[in-house]
Amino acid sequence: MYDVIIVGTGFGGITTSALLAKKGYRTLTLEAANELGGCAGKFERQSFRFQAGATLGMGFEEGGIFSQLFHELDMSVPPVHSLHTVMDVHFSERTIRYYQQKERWFEEIALQFPKDSGAIVRFFEEMFSLADALLSFIYKRPMIPPKTMKHIFEVIQKADRKLLSATPFLFQSIAKRLQHYGIRDETFIAFLNGQLVDSVQTTIEHCPALLGAVALSIFHRGAFYVEGGLATVVHALAQRYKQLGGELRMREKVISIRKERHWLVTTNRKQTYEAKHVVFNGSVHSIFAILDDSIKRSFSIREEKEKKRPAWGAFTIYMGVDDDFQTDSLYHQFIIDKTKPMSEGNQFLLSTSAPFDRQMAPLGKRSITISTHTDPLRWWDRDAYDKKKNVLAKHILKHVHETFPLTNIHVQLIGTPVTFARFTHRAFGKVGGYIPNGPFSLLSTHTPQTNVEGLWLCGDTVFPGAGSLSCALSGWIVADAIAMVK
Ligand SMILES: Cc1cc2nc3c(=O)[nH]c(=O)nc-3n(C[C@H](O)[C@H](O)[C@H](O)COP(=O)(O)OP(=O)(O)OC[C@H]3O[C@@H](n4cnc5c(N)ncnc54)[C@H](O)[C@@H]3O)c2cc1C
Repeated sequence: MYDVIIVGTGFGGITTSALLAKKGYRTLTLEAANELGGCAGKFERQSFRFQAGATLGMGFEEGGIFSQLFHELDMSVPPVHSLHTVMDVHFSERTIRYYQQKERWFEEIALQFPKDSGAIVRFFEEMFSLADALLSFIYKRPMIPPKTMKHIFEVIQKADRKLLSATPFLFQSIAKRLQHYGIRDETFIAFLNGQLVDSVQTTIEHCPALLGAVALSIFHRGAFYVEGGLATVVHALAQRYKQLGGELRMREKVISIRKERHWLVTTNRKQTYEAKHVVFNGSVHSIFAILDDSIKRSFSIREEKEKKRPAWGAFTIYMGVDDDFQTDSLYHQFIIDKTKPMSEGNQFLLSTSAPFDRQMAPLGKRSITISTHTDPLRWWDRDAYDKKKNVLAKHILKHVHETFPLTNIHVQLIGTPVTFARFTHRAFGKVGGYIPNGPFSLLSTHTPQTNVEGLWLCGDTVFPGAGSLSCALSGWIVADAIAMVK
């Protein structure tokens, strides 16, 4: 019998696995796919490596989550490169260079928005100090939102004066803060919407100020290119996990989770494993397909409600190309029409491998991942599928070609929510966590500890939400909590 079975090797799951193995627990990690890492995984075609979804690294700076995690696991940080330019943001009439260093970014603001620059800088300063208050609390890894007396007590213990100063902003949106500063510039608001939709899945009106503050300051704490892609980090964690005695089984999909005296986890290989705890790293809306009815009945998360929770899907284009890039920026966001929604190809992120990265592409070539947000539910009509796919790809590539020549394309592949559902086992291909629905949405996030004893959740559909950094943090919160159970 195992102490803990971890289902999935996304950033959340692999973090829990490695930390529990380090603490001496007998663990088994089961991964349905061929590759580790889920949305932050990779795949290879011809001589190129492609990042399936996530491309931009965060949290590798001193004191950042990954630096802390690697320290905790006695590992060295895999090769990462701090980005001077986080990304170029291309509008039809101009390009904004988004710098990592605060002072350099404020200079760019003065150049791009001379009329509003004072107000915009004050807005960013407010975002930075709010994020500071929130992150110094979140990095203490509290169980949030608190659902039991124990959690409430823990939150009180971990909260400090800095956090209290953030409470007036708790139920405000980013739009409200912009109003406060009198900022109305259409291009700046489109810039913010592009950044926010990419990190917290929504735009200024529906984005809680605290969440937005973290999203708008995180790159200024540290933005990184990871050699070999973000999957390299997952692989390093998996390797450490195995070194520490953890068991990892690939291509073994969990098809049922039930409880008798202990938890019983059955896989598609007709194996049933027993454990005291189960950690589910798939998305919460995907758990119902494998959770036994008796558990579902006592589960505080309701199936019908959960399945209807709005989330985005991803439409991706992967290309292996000749290195025709005349720019030193590795990441390029395109916003085609500022007045239209930041999805379905109107906003997309193009990430290229670094010219020196031989794990990603041969000399003189680059690997590219392009991604845009899409409604995941519009991809399941078989008859319309190919047409939709081709129309969206053509639209995106037209805009890419206008900026970059890309003369020789050696490989080109397309991913849709159907592809993500297949390879990351997320129902309907919903990715990136749930879409916040307003300033109060922080209250409706799920806590990693469920109300069912011994059943835990980690990944981007539970607190603290989307992104490799947040998922690793949720995995760490789960490992801490399991270690506290007698
Ligand atoms: C297109 C795109 C771009 C992104 N860009 C960035 C970025 O630049 N930077 C960033 O930090 N984040 C980015 N993100 C977000 C980030 O990738 C995700 O939030 C994060 O990787 C999700 O991790 P997770 O822990 O939720 O697990 P997931 O990635 O969902 O992985 C879960 C794993 O569990 C496995 N699994 C599920 N069910 C079962 C089962 N029944 N049995 C066995 N195994 C199972 C899956 O196969 C999968 O490997 C992006 C996401 C997408 C989709």
